[in-house]
Amino acid sequence: MGIVVQKFGGSSVADAAGVKRVAQRIINTKREGHDVVVVVSAMGDTTDELIDLANEVTPLPPPRELDMLLTAGERISMAVLAMAIQSLGHEARSFTGSQAGVITDAEHGRAKIIDVAPSRITAALQEGAIAIVAGFQGVSQTTKDITTLGRGGSDTTAVALAVALGAEVCEIYSDVDGIFTADPRIEPRARKVPRISYEECLEMAAQGAKILHLRCVEYARRYDMPIHVRSSFSEKEGTWVVKAADVASVAKEKTEQNMEAAIITGVAHDRSQAKITVVGVPDKPGEAAAIFRAVAEAQSNIDMIVQNVSAAATGLTDISFTLPRNEGQTAMSALSKLQATVGYERLQYDDSVGKVSIIGAGMSSAPGISARFFEALSEAGVNIEMISTSEIRVSVVVSETQVQDAVNAAHAAFELGSDEVEAVVYGGTGR
Ligand code: ASP
Ligand code: MG
Repeated sequence: MGIVVQKFGGSSVADAAGVKRVAQRIINTKREGHDVVVVVSAMGDTTDELIDLANEVTPLPPPRELDMLLTAGERISMAVLAMAIQSLGHEARSFTGSQAGVITDAEHGRAKIIDVAPSRITAALQEGAIAIVAGFQGVSQTTKDITTLGRGGSDTTAVALAVALGAEVCEIYSDVDGIFTADPRIEPRARKVPRISYEECLEMAAQGAKILHLRCVEYARRYDMPIHVRSSFSEKEGTWVVKAADVASVAKEKTEQNMEAAIITGVAHDRSQAKITVVGVPDKPGEAAAIFRAVAEAQSNIDMIVQNVSAAATGLTDISFTLPRNEGQTAMSALSKLQATVGYERLQYDDSVGKVSIIGAGMSSAPGISARFFEALSEAGVNIEMISTSEIRVSVVVSETQVQDAVNAAHAAFELGSDEVEAVVYGGTGR
């Protein structure tokens, strides 16, 4: 039997009881005959608490020291988990990201993995031990300083290790049973998705579904590493994230059994966006370029862009775009400096917007999906402010107060709901 990488999130190891429960689960996998490598996150809300602590000391913690501080969270969980496993009579050894060979670039707070050289992990496995690795961290190849991969980065650590070790599967354990057709907290009829393609999962993650870290799915797709998302609080089979061909073959079987294969896989929502409108932009070449250059230099990641047709009488147009809410003020001040050169009339800022997206590989070959989505929104009295699409997604920006109605309406329109309540949220503070 091959290697299994198991990643446990903060809510699965929130306290000593959680650590012991997880330890037992790891041992069960080991007893089945697998070599087991475990990646852990910091216990409970530890990372947030450490950030709060740093901010109490100084408003702008130096990035190098902040990384040093935050990586301590994962070191606590890896050590106590190794102790718990040993106390149950099995060999376990903990390793920091650096010891596990996770080599990154030097960008503190958002380092990228550039190489994984897990010789110490392989050696531990050969000696029959369970290897426990601290997630979300590595060491810079150039500066040799300790780095972090960005919030939620332990998922990426797990997939990267799974790839480097040639594991059979990367299991990601959290406090829900898998990936659902919508967030169960706002859609009680959400159903668990048994299989989803990397591409759909990427769209779900990018559109605000909080189940997997975007970069971890990108990494898994690049190296075709199957991910099994499941709960550490139940034994249920979770959601398999696999290549599209593997999802399609199962869908085909279903169709042959006369079951309708789903066109829409899920509905995602995101409340972390804001909308900026540049009103009265002269309709001539170079204006949009100047506006988005300024936003880019303010390091903002823009998402949707809409430019209206200019009014014939004035020759002026409006350009709206969305961006992460926490980058809104910086972008606004960068844009306000442009007023004289670009010659726009005024800026509008709206941070009470939300984005709702329907995602599904089936939509690329099914006509009428947008019409059905927009009809459902209109019947629910939801006003659409912006629209964007990809081959497998349709997204709308709506007022934040209408996000839940929009999710519920889309979920019902595409018949995604189950008759029984399936989703159980077992733990976590949702922080
Ligand atoms: N502990 C880190 C965080 O909370 C990394 C992780 O959980 O994956 O962001
Ligand atoms: Mg965490």
